[in-house]
Amino acid sequence: MNSPDTSKTQNFFGTSEAELKEIFSQWNVEAYRVHQVFTWVYHYHCRDFSEMSNISKSLRSQLAERFHFSLPKVQQRTHSKDGSIKYLMELNDGAVVECVWMPSESRKTLCLSTQVGCRLNCSFCLTASLGLKRNLTACEIIGQHIAINEELEEKDQITNVVFMGMGEPLDNYGPVVDALRLMISPEAMKVSTRKVTVSTSGLVEKMKAFQEENLHINLAISLNASDNVTRDRLMPINKKYPIEVLIDCLKKYPLKPQRRHTIEYVLLEGINDSDEDAQRLAKWLQGVPCKINLIPFNAFDSAEYRPPSDQRVLKFQNYLIEQNFSAFIRKNRATDILGACGQLATQVEVGTPR
Ligand code: SF4
Repeated sequence: MNSPDTSKTQNFFGTSEAELKEIFSQWNVEAYRVHQVFTWVYHYHCRDFSEMSNISKSLRSQLAERFHFSLPKVQQRTHSKDGSIKYLMELNDGAVVECVWMPSESRKTLCLSTQVGCRLNCSFCLTASLGLKRNLTACEIIGQHIAINEELEEKDQITNVVFMGMGEPLDNYGPVVDALRLMISPEAMKVSTRKVTVSTSGLVEKMKAFQEENLHINLAISLNASDNVTRDRLMPINKKYPIEVLIDCLKKYPLKPQRRHTIEYVLLEGINDSDEDAQRLAKWLQGVPCKINLIPFNAFDSAEYRPPSDQRVLKFQNYLIEQNFSAFIRKNRATDILGACGQLATQVEVGTPR
């Protein structure tokens, strides 16, 4: 691999097709060469422009002068009993974010991060305690996927991606959209749009902008309450975009045939898990094309909440099923290795102050 002065060159990862086409046009290089270079980098995993044998020597050296390749580093990996692997990824400036690789029979899902910390201050979330340190770049977002895939065996390669790690993806809008374009592009990472899900706490204006991008990525909405008073307490963003505004946005959101939104509902004992909550939730979701994921809270040391009993969770689910919703209980993965959002990174933060 080349070892250029990376402070003077641009990271190739995260460079969009449009940007590379623009650069090639300034160099008087045909646009179709972008496809060739992308194929080398993303399909053949080539990290050295001098090896790109169907590219002219002059273009190869222009590329090497302009770009370098840099990925987040795996700083720590922790294996769970359930087969998941939690990764702590170190970025160029030493900041750390976490990702979780979760295998099942039919898929290998990567949960990745979009921000170092988060500013939305949800009261059940450990990442919130970090505050927002900074946004990730598009390169750092896709870089988590590429770096982890590079160390996984062929049979374990990532098939599905969920943007549900640290941060609110739509609060880092531009880089997240750029990363998604690279992720789903057949020229680049070629992940099917059906297999990518972006989770949001309900930033309605950004959701409206997002639908205009025509990416056809699945959306998961972190709802977590059946009334505005409770949701205000759990998720302060609700004061700006209350439940009725969020639901109205979902009802109008264009979906491809056979697609549904995912409603995420973290169940907290005595807070949002009553029969009345289930009834109100069902009422809100009438007419919303969705499936519902019920997630019993994964408690952490400083948490003020607890998960409900299994019996309560089942009763909540049964009511929703009786109302003809697809409602699933999602057990937290990797709970023995600090699986809840933000838990690994906050431990490191406590252990190694920067
Ligand atoms: S739940 Fe998501 S949006 Fe809320 S503070 Fe945590 S990371 Fe941010």
